[in-house]
Amino acid sequence: MATVKRVNKVEELKKAKDGYDVLKDLIAHSEAGDYDAISEDDVANRFKWWGVYRQKPNVGHFMLRIKIPGGQLNPAELNAIAELTDKYARGFGDITTRQTIQLHWLTTEDLKPIFEKLWAIGMTSQFACGDVPRNIVGCPLAGVLEDEIIDSAQHAVDIQNAFVEGKTEFSNLPRKFKPSIGGCKLHCHQPQINDFGFYGVKRENGEVGYGLLVGGGLSSTPHYGQPLRVFVKPEQVVEVAKAVCALFRDHGYREKRTRARLKFLVADQGWQWTRDKVEEILGYKLEHDDSLQHPPAVHSDHMGIGKQKDGNYYVGVPIERGRWTAKNMTDIARLAEQYGEGEKRIRLTSKQNVIFLDIPEANVEKLTKELDNVGLPPVAHSLRDSLVSCTGSEFCNLAVVETKHRAGRVLKWLEENTEIDVPIMISFTGCPNACSQYQIADIGLTGIPVVIKGEKDENGKPLKVDGYNVLLGATLGETPQFGEVIAKKVEGDKIHLALKALVDAYMADRVDEDETFK
Ligand code: SF4
Repeated sequence: MATVKRVNKVEELKKAKDGYDVLKDLIAHSEAGDYDAISEDDVANRFKWWGVYRQKPNVGHFMLRIKIPGGQLNPAELNAIAELTDKYARGFGDITTRQTIQLHWLTTEDLKPIFEKLWAIGMTSQFACGDVPRNIVGCPLAGVLEDEIIDSAQHAVDIQNAFVEGKTEFSNLPRKFKPSIGGCKLHCHQPQINDFGFYGVKRENGEVGYGLLVGGGLSSTPHYGQPLRVFVKPEQVVEVAKAVCALFRDHGYREKRTRARLKFLVADQGWQWTRDKVEEILGYKLEHDDSLQHPPAVHSDHMGIGKQKDGNYYVGVPIERGRWTAKNMTDIARLAEQYGEGEKRIRLTSKQNVIFLDIPEANVEKLTKELDNVGLPPVAHSLRDSLVSCTGSEFCNLAVVETKHRAGRVLKWLEENTEIDVPIMISFTGCPNACSQYQIADIGLTGIPVVIKGEKDENGKPLKVDGYNVLLGATLGETPQFGEVIAKKVEGDKIHLALKALVDAYMADRVDEDETFK
């Protein structure tokens, strides 16, 4: 007799009502403003399919994540988000490491008008969370970089659209599914740590297309994606993306949530099996190319000021640990309108920054001066470009420590007390789930409560404070390696000293400027 596999609770819940189908209930509750009447299954689970999370401490406020494929925005879209931020989100939002924007402090009543505003300008939060294909990440300079291998900007949008327009086709995956595509030579879009990562390839005969890694992901059990050793032609990329997602939907594990990500299936079955299944779904064979293994990726989000292939310029603006105000957003939208050209002329980066695109040479100086005047200087301490932070205990139910505010304080202190001429990625993360990618950072900090010996809290119990484990040694690229813990339970109030010691040691000991932090 065949064994019946027991599925986890969330699977039962999805079977009872698909997350995609919760929209009508969500809108009805928003119209009625009846938070307390929303079922626990909807409010704690299915709302995520529309980007809506309960905000800590679960007493009536929500976080909303807005999808932005490859971080590509136009001024009108950013203005609309600024308006929502000002009106509903207490005036600030966060850029995430998946190039989305997250708003906080939303009430049940706010959700409907926010959705309507987003829909009116062609944006959505559909599948921003939940067991679905999440926001696709991409190179922020896709389409404009002088030496890019392939322009992936439209492919990112096309893949995202295919997933969203499929409605219930991909709305019940075993777990979240993180896509990535990019075509720059640095492979800055982190193809190794996504469920799939298409990366740009130029062959000896001059043909351009993509290589493909499948089965990467971080969280508490990190895996690098495995190369499928295929050359994917540009015209095949959307159907291959859908086939990888369908493989996960149909073959992924649904028993234990902790083993449900695609990375576990690919690790168990291997790249050849994975590729065979993808080709079976496609109905044709992909072109084999043994040379297409791990690409030589590095950390970058192309900050600074540089020339584009069309002669215009891009101008990067670091946003301190990804948190910006509605005023910052309107300033950036206005300046992009005034000095830029092109459609998607604002890009969000995976290091939580912003880049202006398509600035004619004659406007670069005017733009940088205006940015200085509005408190968004494009040239800053190099750590400001590359220090990232997840949401942490301020709003996240899974966090064990606070991150955003400490990251801001630490950054300011390091700016005053260290000198470094290269951006090194420092990641503040509130729990092992790795939303800010501590395992691949140059210096990864993962939150952990620390007991202070001999001290008691107000209840007479051992005093616990926020602390961090410190990881070093991570590298992306051809021989990828995750960071390893080199110090445990460093008190949060001392973490700036640990970071300074590491930065100073690097600057003192490196042989030349080409010697990376790793
Ligand atoms: Fe929350 Fe943990 Fe993700 Fe930080 S890493 S946002 S604490 S789930």
